[in-house]
Amino acid sequence: MRINRKILLAIAGAAFMGVTVSGCKADVDSKPQSAYEEVFAMDTYMTITAYGRESDMAVEAAKKEIYRLDEMLSVSNEASEVYAINSGKEDNVSTDVASLILTSVMMNEKTKGAFDITIYPIMQEWGFTTREYSVPEESVLKELLKNVGKDGIFFDKNKSTIKLKEGVKIDFGAVAKGYTSARIIDIFKKYDVESAIVSLGGNIHTYNCKYDGSKWKIAIENPNKSSEDEYVGVVHVEGKAVVTSGGYERYFIEDGKIYHHIIDPTTGYPSEAGLASVTVISENGAQADALTTALFVMGKERAVDFWNSYGSGDNEIDEFEIVLVDDEGKVIVSDGIEADFESDRDVVVVSR
Ligand code: AMP
Ligand code: MG
Repeated sequence: MRINRKILLAIAGAAFMGVTVSGCKADVDSKPQSAYEEVFAMDTYMTITAYGRESDMAVEAAKKEIYRLDEMLSVSNEASEVYAINSGKEDNVSTDVASLILTSVMMNEKTKGAFDITIYPIMQEWGFTTREYSVPEESVLKELLKNVGKDGIFFDKNKSTIKLKEGVKIDFGAVAKGYTSARIIDIFKKYDVESAIVSLGGNIHTYNCKYDGSKWKIAIENPNKSSEDEYVGVVHVEGKAVVTSGGYERYFIEDGKIYHHIIDPTTGYPSEAGLASVTVISENGAQADALTTALFVMGKERAVDFWNSYGSGDNEIDEFEIVLVDDEGKVIVSDGIEADFESDRDVVVVSR
């Protein structure tokens, strides 16, 4: 299984690539106690691995948190908070949903609409929510696009209440897993966990270094399934989220054409901006997740410009680095991750 291999590679990485020690403290007297769990939630396969005296309890708490957030954020579960908001039955929001809305609206503004949680009715029309896929009529998409945009969300931050304009529906599908991984890392901090890695679908989040003091090694999948290499490269990280989005993760084919699940909110169609996958490396899981989706929609040039403007962080966006794979298989990395990126391919490094 794809994610399994990714994690395996991360854990066995020292043998695979040679150990890189940096800010990580090499202190390898003995392997600490560890715990591992597999979970299926949020429509994806997940693994949680933690090292430390309280790793059992920490992983158990992480599992509970995943189930709690899955129930809260599901668009299809009639008992979820998001379902109640979308059907106009709920206007009080939990602290989790409030935080997700604030991140989502901020990202919508910064990315000039490339990231938009109100894309949900369009996702439904394409059948991505039910897997009963069909290509919508352009006129239908045009009509639905009238209800896409943050102006349809009336969120009162002080009262923690929300109202959606008639016809507007939200979906945290592009940010929920990153938010969840960040919550899990917060939980690990409350336990005696020395080191941990979680893999929630395409979202990897590491806590500290590996227990042996080396950096975690995260393989980036080759988005081009017809080519031979399984991975385009490996990033070495400590205490960071490594999130990848790509059209290859979910799509259907009609009349020989591929339609994937990342939608350009300006057209209502799957984004065709020249990128096959986007990986964002950041300490902030939710932001990394939102950014992968947004940068994928933006395409190579706009994505690099965005990294130029915000990659070193501002008062809202945390520092982040990027690895882009374009439709021709070319790899573009930002210079802040270059030294921690290994690849057999020719790599273009972008600098500010
Ligand atoms: P990700 O895998 O993080 O890129 O998220 C993709 C998911 O986010 C899709 O399956 C949709 O549920 C949702 N989505 C698609 N396009 C967008 C977009 N432009 N902005 C925000 N969410 C989106
Ligand atoms: Mg995302």
